[in-house]
Amino acid sequence: SQTKQTLSFQAEVAQLLHLVTHSLYSNKEIFLRELISNASDACDKLRFEALHNNALYEDVPTLEVRVSFDKAARTLTIADNGIGLSQQEAIDNLGTIAKSGTREFMSKLSGDQKADAQLIGQFGVGFYSGFIVADRIAVESRRAGLPADEGVRWTSGGAGDFEVETITRPQRGTSVTLHLREDAEDYLSTWKLKSVIAKYSDHISLPILMRKEEWKEGEEVAGGPAGATSGGSMVLTDEWETVNQASALWTRAKKDITPEQYQDFYKQISHDHEPPLAWAHNRVEGATEYTQLLYIPAKAPMDLWNRDKVAGVKLYVKRVFIMDDAEALMPVYLRFVKGVIDSADLPLNVSRELLQESRDVRAIREGSTKRVLSMLEDLAKLESDEDASAEDKAKYAGFWAEFGAVLKEGLGEDFGNRDRLAKLLRFASTQSDTPSVALADYKARMKDGQDAIYYITADTLAAARNSPQLEVFRKKGIEVLLMTDRVDEWALNYLQEFDGTPLQSVAKGAVDLGKLQDEAEKKKAEEAAESFKPVLARLKEALKDKAEDVRVTSRLVDSPACLVVQDSGMSMQLARMLKQAGQ
Ligand code: ADP
Ligand code: MG
Repeated sequence: SQTKQTLSFQAEVAQLLHLVTHSLYSNKEIFLRELISNASDACDKLRFEALHNNALYEDVPTLEVRVSFDKAARTLTIADNGIGLSQQEAIDNLGTIAKSGTREFMSKLSGDQKADAQLIGQFGVGFYSGFIVADRIAVESRRAGLPADEGVRWTSGGAGDFEVETITRPQRGTSVTLHLREDAEDYLSTWKLKSVIAKYSDHISLPILMRKEEWKEGEEVAGGPAGATSGGSMVLTDEWETVNQASALWTRAKKDITPEQYQDFYKQISHDHEPPLAWAHNRVEGATEYTQLLYIPAKAPMDLWNRDKVAGVKLYVKRVFIMDDAEALMPVYLRFVKGVIDSADLPLNVSRELLQESRDVRAIREGSTKRVLSMLEDLAKLESDEDASAEDKAKYAGFWAEFGAVLKEGLGEDFGNRDRLAKLLRFASTQSDTPSVALADYKARMKDGQDAIYYITADTLAAARNSPQLEVFRKKGIEVLLMTDRVDEWALNYLQEFDGTPLQSVAKGAVDLGKLQDEAEKKKAEEAAESFKPVLARLKEALKDKAEDVRVTSRLVDSPACLVVQDSGMSMQLARMLKQAGQ
């Protein structure tokens, strides 16, 4: 009953395969990282499922990955003894792409191979990267817990279809054998493989084994001088050795970890090819004990605006991977943070539901949020630190350009940290084209008698700058913050004041310039209001369906009229946004 089935790839997979193999040509080596990370995921899954069903270990409790090659056959094999795949799982997981992000992924492939390689990681199309170097892939697997004769062999040339058949496979887990293309033969070398593993997979927390090599003298040369040989070569032995560090980086002491190691680990967990801006590694002791290793990336991922996406912080319990969980570990507005949290207190079989309710998790989340905020404060401090390098000085501005708009969401989301968040805000203003003005800087520059922080919201800087509502402020030399992020309007609702000074939109109500207005001007305005009364009455009548009120203003200098909204009203910018959103 050894049936062999030929099945077609889902249309997207076929398309993807084509793109992957063609666009990543110059960045071949990432295939090994992807396959090893799948092997490691499979071991994590086994460990996790075995918490409820210890029999899954089948008397082989040591989880590992073996990388081996056969020069003559030109094959490279990555084998694990993790959870394995049932026949149906092989069909489902290796023949279709369940992830909705794939279409998006494909539309984002740019032809810039470095950037595309990074996307591969972000979207988890990792397995197919094997076809960059292989013209045929054979996967043999048996799911832990299934009988030996329920193994599966999956093979494909990566063109339109794949074959599956039932096999007998005594050992659980998966082996992926790549039939290497001619131009990928350099991977048939222990040295080459070791160096790629060291580069990408050093911190995978389970051992990666390769067969040991030994120097073998050549044959004695017949007829030559005594002892002369034809040289020698490295030959593979039957002994296996561990070729990676195989210890979870975050469990090591800080002083034993180099910056390069921190950066490599970041690249591994984030699939980002740029080094992070900053990281923090701490063992937190007290009522709840945990280790945190948190990174702030330098560049925003393209799905940053998807608030539902899985956060970049992984939860471990005593080094066992438990899950990626968005909101339990990090507030949504810090979704750009990557890293690892390893708790000693949570039960290993913690469920998602339990996580949401756990007091320990809440403490971890609060502690981690505070840690991220203090990392950002440290970056912000570097801006004005005379001893800091130019590179360090520019870090906060770099962070703000990438993630500032996301951080602002925190004003409405995290009331407990609002004051700290407010200090981290940066805006463009009538005195600064770049978004570099902190509210404290603004306050320090306020005019004598000025008692509010003024701002205007608009779609673009140019629109903000040319708004007639700014005329009187310009004339008096009063700085106005220019806000152009979509989130500003909403976020600013939650920030009524900064350090005792109210924030005031210049597009709302009757701008009260307070003590900034001199007596003569005030008098002139009052006189004008009086003498224009009949005109105002007629305008009001004429505009009665369109305008709530018509009044004389002192905010204009050159323009004859401008629109404002009521103090309590929705601002025009927000009204426009809601209208666009179809509300
Ligand atoms: P991802 O790892 O992001 O899920 P991949 O394309 O790398 O995407 O892998 C696709 C799926 O194939 C995995 O989710 C998993 O279900 C299955 N898979 C791949 N490699 C293995 C393996 N070594 N053991 C078990 N399952 C695997
Ligand atoms: Mg993968």
